[in-house]
Amino acid sequence: MGKTQALRFRLTSTVAGRLSGVLDALLAVVLAPACAACERVLDHPTKGPVCQSCWQSIVPITPPLCDRCGDPLPTWRSISLSAAICPRCRRTRRLVDRARTVGEYEGALRAVIHALKYEGRRSLAVSLARLMRERGAELLSGVNCVVPVPLHPTRRRHRGFNQAADLACGLGLDVRHALRRVRATPPQTGLPAARRHRNVRDAFAATRAASAMPGATVLLVDDVSTTGATLEACARMLKTCGVREVRALTAARVVSRRR
Ligand SMILES: [Zn+2]
Ligand SMILES: [Zn+2]
Repeated sequence: MGKTQALRFRLTSTVAGRLSGVLDALLAVVLAPACAACERVLDHPTKGPVCQSCWQSIVPITPPLCDRCGDPLPTWRSISLSAAICPRCRRTRRLVDRARTVGEYEGALRAVIHALKYEGRRSLAVSLARLMRERGAELLSGVNCVVPVPLHPTRRRHRGFNQAADLACGLGLDVRHALRRVRATPPQTGLPAARRHRNVRDAFAATRAASAMPGATVLLVDDVSTTGATLEACARMLKTCGVREVRALTAARVVSRRR
């Protein structure tokens, strides 16, 4: 970069910085938009609907983690095993081969997901997907495509968008809509684990996009995983179509402390 160019660049970025500062101040006074997570007035509304301290409060689940499901492991178990696998994953073989998430479904992360899903703040999917890419980096390498968990068409129409598809698109990988929901299932919230598995079993079918998947490694994407029942049902369908490996990346998960 030449001297004049460098000077022009510095001037432009200073002007841009000042302008967004002025715009922030103006928006803060005129509209006083509140953070979508903590509801305090935003200092920098031009940087999005959630404040910096809320984003910073979203901490990763503390390692050591189960290599398969991503649940936290009691430390001594990880020392005694070469591959760190939690008791639940050792008891039952899962169809999702590996799962990771941004953090626990609580606090600011829970509020961000609510704002995305129920208030239609779709721009939040971009920032959430960035966090998913960072914290799920180990799952992304070698993936052939990303498959979002579908909504039933009725719910999709009602909401106007599928939050899982928005998150999948934000990952910057090839997205394939290989699954569709053929049964409108009652919401999983409030159902005990066993019922959840029954609730979503056979709720998914493959689309034509799945015919190109034999031998593939697929990354399933959803906003929240509670017991993993939905992800397992999707993985079952994908494996029926010949998918070799199913990984799952979610924005948040409910961590089970009971084993
Ligand atoms: Zn906030
Ligand atoms: Zn596990």
